[in-house]
Amino acid sequence: MRHVVIIGSGPAGLTAAIYAARANLSPLLIEGWQSGGQLTTTTEVENYPGFAKGIMGPELMKDMRAQAERFGTEFLTGDVTAVTLTQRPFTLTVDGEQVIEARTVIIATGASAIQIGLKNEARLTGHGVSTCATCDGFFFKGKELIVVGGGDSALEEAIFLTKFATKVSLVHRRDKLRASKIMQERAMKSEKIAFVWNSVVEDILGGEVLTGVRLKNVVTGRMTEAPCDGVFVAIGHRPNTSLFAGQIEMDEKGYIRTRNGTATSIPGVFAAGDVQDSTYRQAVTAAGSGCMAAIDAERFLESSET
Ligand code: NAP
Repeated sequence: MRHVVIIGSGPAGLTAAIYAARANLSPLLIEGWQSGGQLTTTTEVENYPGFAKGIMGPELMKDMRAQAERFGTEFLTGDVTAVTLTQRPFTLTVDGEQVIEARTVIIATGASAIQIGLKNEARLTGHGVSTCATCDGFFFKGKELIVVGGGDSALEEAIFLTKFATKVSLVHRRDKLRASKIMQERAMKSEKIAFVWNSVVEDILGGEVLTGVRLKNVVTGRMTEAPCDGVFVAIGHRPNTSLFAGQIEMDEKGYIRTRNGTATSIPGVFAAGDVQDSTYRQAVTAAGSGCMAAIDAERFLESSET
């Protein structure tokens, strides 16, 4: 039986692993099939302390993983497909086969990109529709693109995409951006970025390949068609918590509720990072809560006979 099993390999999971490993708890980290979490799909991270010149997201995650490994974290590549947290020891099933028993569990499963929810969006994903500019921007050299959303992610994607595209139109449902001032200033400065205010994407057009979008102005109700070669959806994220539904307390948006640090409604189960944080959602806050979760798990193990 494991002392600590960590689910998730973003900044929260890996920081929990670094701390748990250094506390001699021999943690097992189940990293999914795509290690590294959301930062592996981002470009330059400029606000993670300690990197005065910035660092590329994938590189930061590679280094965090190496650091966790250096202190003895064991990694298991695969997805947790079932959990039983209602009895002890806790059990976790990986890819429907391997069953692991744990005295404590740290949930750091993060969040995933939300989609608009259009039929053609799903159909054309990978054929012009994307939620990751870093992954797919390169395929749109010399093309015209649309980015949907008004937060930091949308602006970050739009700015990044100007490296490849001839024009990027940012479609936002209001006439005010949610993004931080610095990102707004950068986007406004770009000659390649145009803003389409008070508008939503009603449909994505195209047969095998995307050819444009149908937009609706939410103030006037007017519908227009805008030709483009790609649509990047950047309208926020949803916590990855469906695996734990019915077993652990969550808020109305599906984020795991934590109290007194990272404790959840189940003693011995802790949650860290975006899976329990709908407010800050930063790499550094995720890493901080991962550290807290490892310390909380260590204290729990010291004080319990479980
Ligand atoms: P967000 O801040 O929640 O913004 C989501 C945006 O999408 C909002 O503008 C929202 O419109 C719009 N939206 C939501 N649902 C929509 C729908 N169904 N149709 C059309 N538009 C929709 O999400 P985020 O941009 O992913 O950022 C998440 C967090 O990460 C934030 O705290 C952000 O600061 C942080 N972040 C930071 C950086 C950075 O510092 N470089 C980069 C990326 C993210 P409304 O404004 O009308 O609600």
